[in-house]
Amino acid sequence: MHRILVALRVRPVSDAELEQGATLIAHRVDNNMVVLMDPQEDPDDILRANRSREKQYVFDYSFDGRSTQEEVYAYTTRPLIESVIEGFNATVFAYGATGAGKTYTMLGTEHEPGVMARSLNALFEEMYRTSENMVYQVSMSYLEIYNEMIRDLLNPESGFLELREDAKGVQVTGLSEVNAKSTKEVMELLQQGNKQRTQEPTKANKTSSRSHAVLQVTVKQRSRVRNTTQEVRVGKLYMIDLAGSERAAQTQNRGKRMKEGAHINRSLLALGNCINALCEKGGKAYVNYRDSKLTRLLKDALGGNCKTVMIAHISPASTSFDESRNTLLYADRAKNIKTRVKRNLMNVSYHIAQYTAIISDLRKEISRL
Ligand code: ADP
Ligand code: MG
Repeated sequence: MHRILVALRVRPVSDAELEQGATLIAHRVDNNMVVLMDPQEDPDDILRANRSREKQYVFDYSFDGRSTQEEVYAYTTRPLIESVIEGFNATVFAYGATGAGKTYTMLGTEHEPGVMARSLNALFEEMYRTSENMVYQVSMSYLEIYNEMIRDLLNPESGFLELREDAKGVQVTGLSEVNAKSTKEVMELLQQGNKQRTQEPTKANKTSSRSHAVLQVTVKQRSRVRNTTQEVRVGKLYMIDLAGSERAAQTQNRGKRMKEGAHINRSLLALGNCINALCEKGGKAYVNYRDSKLTRLLKDALGGNCKTVMIAHISPASTSFDESRNTLLYADRAKNIKTRVKRNLMNVSYHIAQYTAIISDLRKEISRL
């Protein structure tokens, strides 16, 4: 059994937060520990007064404003690259409230590329390194799920795309697959793609990302030596920048926004339900993938074996205390998720994912709304 790897990244405080008079309440203590201080003092709250205002959380890795993009990538995602080349499937997802640093970790900037570009770069390097003996094909697709609708971020003109299930598994009809050759090219494609993501202002945040962005990288590999039992290994790496985990209620969303919130929760909730069912002892539980686009899309990944990494994100500022605490509790629970990972060399499709913790948490959150 493999445990899901859970990392926590505290981003640097922003000028805007300092201007609002925020104090710093979240700190990375060492490679594993993060502490969060409750900024509120309420002398009438006896329970609270008797409790320590500082809580410690321990993860597989913790990062803060001094941690580099390379460090975050190297500890969390680099170990998956070899597995993908060997024909496993793997998933990395960024979790956290809007503004907590998810996109910075996954996409990054031109000069500080994130996990997505670094992973592809590592795949290219491995490809060149072993190209004498092996034939590789690395392709990528980048899509958005927004309001339960799928859009191709690399080709937005194609409109809303449909999911289809056939013998080859779940496919997004008309989704473009690109064979990128260099990190620079990948970064340009991803940055262009990200500009196409749906960003809508809400009361709580100037821009609030209410869409899930899914980068799917497929690595096919076979030996140059041809024989009758030719083995083709297919590994898939999903890198997912999830929609903000903040509660719709907190942003005082109304109408359209509220509906979006419900959809986001629907996708995240469905994901949680699937993982819970997959984790049932004996693996006999019925898994309902059909509840959301995200779970339908990840069906192959979720239904098989998986190596999964969750990178949770928080702001260090006192103004984000509630969100940070929610994210820390969620990530803390995710540590208990276990997945079965079998090595599979033939015929492909392996997968993934244990988003388990996300799940039960989101379910609770939704029932509270
Ligand atoms: P999210 O995708 O979770 O909504 P972003 O990744 O867009 O959040 O981060 C919000 C802001 O904080 C952005 O301006 C981003 O550049 C900045 N930021 C986030 N994480 C870091 C970091 N580790 N170092 C420097 N700046 C960061
Ligand atoms: Mg974002």
